[in-house]
Amino acid sequence: MQQIELSAYAKINWSLLITGQRDDGYHTLMSLMEQVDLADEITVQKAAFDQIACPPLPEDASNLALAAWLALKKKLNLKDCLRIIIKKNIPLASGLAGGSSDAAAVLRGANDLLDLGQTDEQLAELGLSLGADLPFCLAGGAAVVSGIGERVEKVSDFPQMPLLLINPGQAVSTAAAYRGRMGAFCDRTVAYSKIASLLIARRRLDFAQIAMVWQNDLQKSSIALCPAIAHIKLDLAKAGIPSLMSGSGATVIAPPLDEENLSKLQEKYPFVRTVKTR
Ligand code: ATP
Repeated sequence: MQQIELSAYAKINWSLLITGQRDDGYHTLMSLMEQVDLADEITVQKAAFDQIACPPLPEDASNLALAAWLALKKKLNLKDCLRIIIKKNIPLASGLAGGSSDAAAVLRGANDLLDLGQTDEQLAELGLSLGADLPFCLAGGAAVVSGIGERVEKVSDFPQMPLLLINPGQAVSTAAAYRGRMGAFCDRTVAYSKIASLLIARRRLDFAQIAMVWQNDLQKSSIALCPAIAHIKLDLAKAGIPSLMSGSGATVIAPPLDEENLSKLQEKYPFVRTVKTR
């Protein structure tokens, strides 16, 4: 086998509760994450030297996908080289973990292509050193994620659910959103019970009930960085539609809309997409 093709799926946060901050600066969280059928398309090929093509991003190791391969190569002291080609369909810096998902797909792809025999746990451990969303992206599906992202408890009984993603075409820095967060942390017991209610609502495909319990503790600070998030939420609220920002934004998630409301949003925002959970 000379090459492998992979889909790197976007994730949403049905809830993102920040429960504390460790001495090393990392925030601890509790989040219900789920992949949706919006994906970057990745080809990983054996090559004479390491390279990446992922327009419009620079062709260097600032790309998390190449950084992930180089970290795996270093860890295992490999001589192999890879060409990584990525077609981005997930908006950049949008709270949908596009970069982390690309990196996770490349770790899996390299492991299979080169027959490296790395276990899921070994890949997740390496992944965590590259980004907090990596362990979830490697696990896939739906999961309750906690710690700094290293604890991934998979949820296997969610029926597929359609939802709407709206992105204003503006990047939000995850680091800046965390820096701008203010106020008390969410108590861990409270966080548990909120996530438990969310699990029930999500299982029932009950968007109204989901919207009663979902919460994103980065929403305020991300709105301060990117007011367009609030504009999207306001447009939806005016039509009586609940919404929540995913991750550090700026993507907003909402229930699927009728044609009229959908085309109004499509006229105003560059990325409006009805997707399904996987
Ligand atoms: P998260 O939800 O994990 O915080 P995000 O969806 O907000 O992530 P990404 O799309 O992963 O954000 O990108 C964040 C930054 O990472 C981008 O601004 C970009 O410069 C950089 N980056 C590095 N590699 C990639 C990649 N393969 N795809 C997208 N962005 C990448």
